[in-house]
Amino acid sequence: MPSDPDLDLRGRLIRSLGSLREMLPGSFVERKRACGRPTCHCADGKNLHVQYQISVLVEGKPKAFNVPAKLVEQVRQQVAMRDRFDAAAATICGINLRRFLKRKEDQ
Ligand SMILES: [Zn+2]
Repeated sequence: MPSDPDLDLRGRLIRSLGSLREMLPGSFVERKRACGRPTCHCADGKNLHVQYQISVLVEGKPKAFNVPAKLVEQVRQQVAMRDRFDAAAATICGINLRRFLKRKEDQ
């Protein structure tokens, strides 16, 4: 029996999900701000401080959590994992819907 490309794809996607286990919710945002100290380099309004945050809905309410500088790259990737997870889930659901509709037709 020839292999079914949909099932091959579904299997590959399912197996890839384990690598996304460290995914984080929300979006990764970069905020620029002045700290308010008059002698700081940011006081000119141009050389602002950069603060990275993840913006997340917690129980329906938007929250922002600061990301320490040493975790920025890691957290950025963890947030991106969520998009890949959602894309994989959407593709798997699409395959399964097609299979369901086909099975219904065949009855
Ligand atoms: Zn400052």
